[in-house]
Amino acid sequence: MALEPEGNNRLLQDVLARPGNETCADCGNPEPDWASLTLGVFVCQACSLLHRSIPHISRVKSVQDTWDASDVELMAATGNSAAKAKYEQKVPAFYYRPIHPDCKMLREQWIRAKYERNEFEFIEKQEPYSAGYREGFLWKRGRDNGQFLSRKFILSEREGALKYFNKQDARDPKAVMKIETLNATFQPAKIGNPCGLQITYLKDNSTRNIFVYHSDAKEMVDWFNAIRAARFHYLQVAFPGASDEELVPKLTRNFMKEGFMEKTGPKHTEGFKKRWFTMDDRRLMYFKDPLDAYARGEVFIGSKENSYTVLSGLPSSTQGYHWNHGITIVTPDRKFLFACETEAEQRDWISAFQRVINRPMRPQEYAVEAHFKHKP
Ligand SMILES: [Zn+2]
Repeated sequence: MALEPEGNNRLLQDVLARPGNETCADCGNPEPDWASLTLGVFVCQACSLLHRSIPHISRVKSVQDTWDASDVELMAATGNSAAKAKYEQKVPAFYYRPIHPDCKMLREQWIRAKYERNEFEFIEKQEPYSAGYREGFLWKRGRDNGQFLSRKFILSEREGALKYFNKQDARDPKAVMKIETLNATFQPAKIGNPCGLQITYLKDNSTRNIFVYHSDAKEMVDWFNAIRAARFHYLQVAFPGASDEELVPKLTRNFMKEGFMEKTGPKHTEGFKKRWFTMDDRRLMYFKDPLDAYARGEVFIGSKENSYTVLSGLPSSTQGYHWNHGITIVTPDRKFLFACETEAEQRDWISAFQRVINRPMRPQEYAVEAHFKHKP
């Protein structure tokens, strides 16, 4: 005997309560309230919107809608765990799995890679980021003029480097970025392009930024995962015996916090200047413009055991006009004074600083600290 619609929806709630269905199949967001009837997965609302962009693959429906018995049975027969076993059976360890706060492009490409391109069922489809070599053209922001120009890039695991060339027939690369110090993070808002990728590397222990994009989102995500693969293979050699779980979080880093603050110089009498700050783990860098190629300066933030402290407010002797919400970072060498425009910004920055200060320093971080101490 067929149940009333309310009965079907109660049954659907039972299916939703099964292990694996308590988080979105695609981004891990808790309590998914949409379902793909064709794929048999439960997803969050944000991911359901991305499923709508592949209507030939996925047909979505809210769990609040009226369900008939056959659709409930269909969901009961698959569900997130079974779908994961099928669509994610061969995801490489280095491959980036987006989470809910990631940019839309990354989340959409993850969904398309899984369900539309079936990249993780057939390893031959992973060649663009698994071959250890990749070349192609990317739009790169000019260092000084801010114009995006098409440049040839080569990523070579054998050479341990990402290179780019200014002229198509140039023999020598314009820059060689060692995989050892390379980081890549999607920054669509900052770069002003949905596929905007920030690549950061160290040269002579100073941070350099380049900003690139590709008009094809798949190409850009392939570049990103190729960089992660190169980092993974580099770290496997550098840290023999380390597990995948230890290495994977080190492949690429998102910045802990970015935004404008005001700062003073070492004498604290020069007046406050507005700068763009980026906190990359223990490196607090500042730039005149968010898209500058080089940091104007960097502050290393160690741990509390090594005499680093963050305080709310500024010393009473502080002079000059500045934003209202002060922060003082005390290092073994000097005090750094910052001012935030709002209390919320001040709170966010302090908690970001606190997170690294509360974490003991790793051996290799002492070498970084030593470098900063010897800076004039
Ligand atoms: Zn989701």
